[in-house]
Amino acid sequence: MANTGPTLQVIGSGPVALAFALFALRQGIDRRRIAIEHRDTPLPAALAARQLALSLGSWQLLRRIARPPAAAPIATVDVSVTGQPGRTRITATEMGVPALGYVLRYASLLQSLQDAARSAGLFDAPTQPATPGAALTVHAEGDTGEDASVLGFDQAALLAEVTVEAEPSGVAWECFTPQGPLALLPLPEPHRYSLVWCATPQESRRRAALAPEALATELQAAFGWPLGRLSIASPCMVAPMVRRTRRHTVTADQAWIGNAAQALHPVAGQGLNLGLRDAFLLARGLADGEAAGLPAAACLQDYAKARRLDRHGTIAITDTFARVFTLDPLRPLQSVALAALDLALPARAAVARRLMFGQR
Ligand SMILES: Cc1cc2nc3c(=O)[nH]c(=O)nc-3n(C[C@H](O)[C@H](O)[C@H](O)COP(=O)(O)OP(=O)(O)OC[C@H]3O[C@@H](n4cnc5c(N)ncnc54)[C@H](O)[C@@H]3O)c2cc1C
Repeated sequence: MANTGPTLQVIGSGPVALAFALFALRQGIDRRRIAIEHRDTPLPAALAARQLALSLGSWQLLRRIARPPAAAPIATVDVSVTGQPGRTRITATEMGVPALGYVLRYASLLQSLQDAARSAGLFDAPTQPATPGAALTVHAEGDTGEDASVLGFDQAALLAEVTVEAEPSGVAWECFTPQGPLALLPLPEPHRYSLVWCATPQESRRRAALAPEALATELQAAFGWPLGRLSIASPCMVAPMVRRTRRHTVTADQAWIGNAAQALHPVAGQGLNLGLRDAFLLARGLADGEAAGLPAAACLQDYAKARRLDRHGTIAITDTFARVFTLDPLRPLQSVALAALDLALPARAAVARRLMFGQR
């Protein structure tokens, strides 16, 4: 099975492309059937500056294929609405897991996956020549292209690194401000946090142009003092927030995964988590389908069907978080909802499990 079948032509050289190639190898697909480009040009600034919260489920998937990079474990997630009393805390202890997730730098994740791909020979193995009709293209280039529905949020995220006074505690903070969500995530270095602060594009640009001390004062006013004094520790970037989802994620001989299939608002930190599940399940679906004698087109249809619930569910949750928590008339209700969630362990556990492992 493993050495016959279509060549897998992987487009893209980011985390989802590499993860797919490595999962395919682990599923027993011969490396000479996998064609993937190795790009070792410097990362674009927007990717080099990005930090990612990976769910526990993604972390477990990643450990199957690569040596995980330096990461900060998340012991607690604290969710609140600015100016309202209700809040909820989800802890790894109550969930009975070692961590709810891990925060790492995009650049170090990419490096780990590139190292694993290089050791597995994925960058030097000559691939089988693809005869017409015998190649299957896996798009993981991080761009949905033309066939996408687009939802704008009239938001842009200000991204920066922040140093904090408080001792490391493993708490990830998600705070819904009137203009958009503000997240502070612990980084692998002590006292260092990643800031994702969403607001209207004009407001984010205004904040990004402030002197670091003035920005820190505004951030402190919006977030408060749970982490002690905050200082801006890196240049700021502004990223527009748009959700793009492809209408079709498979054809008879092509599949789109990761951000090539859907690019989400980062509010719930779900984009790469969804992309890694795409990569794993596509590789497994192709290998299992081949073993059962199914043609590639049927494997792709089965894959798309199996991904529907997780994909649409994650998109819906992310869109809702990005929009509902910023609607002013609903703010007292949001606070009540969070307080209720805080009191109800089964509901809290259900939300946490969904975010840790996706829809199973
Ligand atoms: C501000 C922000 C914060 C986010 N936070 C989270 C989070 O906390 N958790 C989460 O799960 N998701 C998060 N995401 C989403 C996450 O970054 C994407 O879902 C994920 O990066 C998709 O991976 P991908 O490989 O599909 O494509 P991308 O990472 O979007 O793009 C990779 C593509 O870039 C291209 N590229 C260009 N130059 C290079 C180069 N030198 N080397 C390699 N590739 C290169 C390649 O074609 C490659 O395929 C966030 C997104 C944003 C915008």
